[in-house]
Amino acid sequence: MSALFPTYARWDIAPEKGLGAKLIDGNGKEYLDFISGIAVCNLGHCHPKVISAVEQQLNKLWHVSNLFQIKGQEEVAQILVEHSDGDYVFFCNSGAEANEAAIKLARKATGKHHIVSLRNSFHGRTLGSMAATGQDKIHQGFGPLLTEFTYVEMNDVAALQNAVTEKTAAVMVEVIQGEGGIRLMNEQYAEALKQVCDHYGCLLIIDEVQTGIGRTGTTFAYKQLNLSPDIVTVAKGLGNGFPVGALIGKESLKEAFSPGSHGSTFGGNPLAMAAAKAVLQEVFKPEMLQSVQEKGEWFKAELEQKLSKFKIVEEVRGKGFMIGIACETEVAPIISACIEEGLLVLPAGPKVLRILPPLVTTQNELERASEILTTVFSKVEQKQSVNS
Ligand SMILES: *Cc1c(COP(=O)(O)O)cnc(C)c1O
Repeated sequence: MSALFPTYARWDIAPEKGLGAKLIDGNGKEYLDFISGIAVCNLGHCHPKVISAVEQQLNKLWHVSNLFQIKGQEEVAQILVEHSDGDYVFFCNSGAEANEAAIKLARKATGKHHIVSLRNSFHGRTLGSMAATGQDKIHQGFGPLLTEFTYVEMNDVAALQNAVTEKTAAVMVEVIQGEGGIRLMNEQYAEALKQVCDHYGCLLIIDEVQTGIGRTGTTFAYKQLNLSPDIVTVAKGLGNGFPVGALIGKESLKEAFSPGSHGSTFGGNPLAMAAAKAVLQEVFKPEMLQSVQEKGEWFKAELEQKLSKFKIVEEVRGKGFMIGIACETEVAPIISACIEEGLLVLPAGPKVLRILPPLVTTQNELERASEILTTVFSKVEQKQSVNS
């Protein structure tokens, strides 16, 4: 009997140790972890630099609150603004909180409350971020929702142009939808997004909670589309497993977040900042990002070559180390078979297999994963042809 609310249908695996892309359970079974705690442990498990930074802070000071000067916050904020289009940072503890802050900031800065977001998006589970999320299954039973959201299909320029008006405070998007199926925004749409936001003077909010912190081979994924967001939200990979989130915003928004306007008790505490600083110093190294681009390209091409012969595989897509395999059938049995073979992957919607290796995954590990996936897909296809 478990005393936990059954909000998660958990797998029957209890990991006890991790190192790099390896995860070991209580029975000593080893897995190749291509989930990374859902795009969180971008530097792999137990990265020595992150351990050492947190250990040192652990023995100095844990928490003082935002009544005080916190040097770590200044340092991490500086790194984030240097590598993004923003000028100021607000720290919180999760992706949903960062998006909640983004919605509040957009409202306060513009004096408007209509927000356009995308179908199949995912922005979190709080009332605001849930309302921003364009998926009925996430809303089920939790109504009434905030009413000021209009959902439009990604890459449909006409729908975007119709939805945004003078009353729109912001457009909120992921440039690669993570939970929604590894769907990529195309260049025409990104261009239209820029034009529409400029024309109506509304803010562009880019949710980089999953795509940010090097995941797609650049510091932030929006850079690959030449966008210049007013607000960027990050969380998952920022602390490599230490809970931390952040909102990065442009200069023009400074007044709206004046003293007393928004806050968080834990946000940006010294322990979280020690983890985040160590993470950013590693992940934002040009050679790290370069290697994610190169290995990601290789891995995607390898999967295309090995898997496209299977009838159930529709498409292999993604950027860097954020890859989706879109299938004709539900992927749950494929994921179970991968786990059996020692490879951990996850779904993104019912029919897409999502692969999120740590950014430090080695070539050998990528090759091993490709072998396992090829074996699993051929077994699943054989079974289906026997059944039909
Ligand atoms: C995971 C995720 C969130 C929510 O983050 P939490 O830390 O779970 O609140 C928001 N947006 C995107 C794109 C995500 O992938």
